[in-house]
Amino acid sequence: MAGRRRLAAGNWKMNGLTSSLAELRAVVAGVGSARCDVAVCPPATLIGAAVVAAKGSAVAIGGQDCAAAAAAFGAFTGDISAEMIADLGARLVIVGHSERRMLHGETDAVVRAKAEAAARAGLTAIVCIGETAEQRREGNTEAVLSTQLAGSLPARPAAGLVIAYEPVWAIGTGLTPTADEIAAAHAHIRSRLSERLGSAGAEATRILYGGSVKSDNSRSIAGVVGVDGALVGGASLKAAEFLAIVAAFG
Ligand code: PEP
Repeated sequence: MAGRRRLAAGNWKMNGLTSSLAELRAVVAGVGSARCDVAVCPPATLIGAAVVAAKGSAVAIGGQDCAAAAAAFGAFTGDISAEMIADLGARLVIVGHSERRMLHGETDAVVRAKAEAAARAGLTAIVCIGETAEQRREGNTEAVLSTQLAGSLPARPAAGLVIAYEPVWAIGTGLTPTADEIAAAHAHIRSRLSERLGSAGAEATRILYGGSVKSDNSRSIAGVVGVDGALVGGASLKAAEFLAIVAAFG
């Protein structure tokens, strides 16, 4: 792991009402002094209240997306800028999740603009990349990851930028790649990062695995070489389940 501190990040997606903050409070109460970084990314409507609920704890709060605009403010009805997310006290933001890429047509260029907006606002960006089932079947996984990385990262990525390797076919399906497949994808990503950032930059960059991480597979995924943490969707909605995953990475 080359000294990289692991990160377990929960992505609540479009789930959560104010009553759901009880789960976050349970995470805050249970996390103690975790030996990995811990983050929860609730929907935008809950970020402010989540920051208050997590105040003084080891749990950082993040957004799930931010506007791609080159300005912090302006005529972009419905959009939420990275600065607005940071203003609420959030510390990170997910960009380029496959659901955004597929359901909202986000291209690598849009993801890159969002990662740049995150850096501009002082937020840590978690940049998601990953292949579809068809791309894997056709032997194109590494080519897809290379293309997404090349197109989605800012020209000069901010220190602390995080990559999440999330095979699209593993998200929300209960399917996961084998340990060897995860290790190979992470090694490939790190080698592309090394070309881009130099070996010190690549070694300092955390690469998370995401896709059907649950309490019962988290220990084996945490043991895969090159895995610096997890981006967790469904299993982050219940505090006990998420805390078990945090413990596996801590
Ligand atoms: C995700 O949304 O990033 C994700 C990995 O979802 P799940 O854990 O539910 O597969």
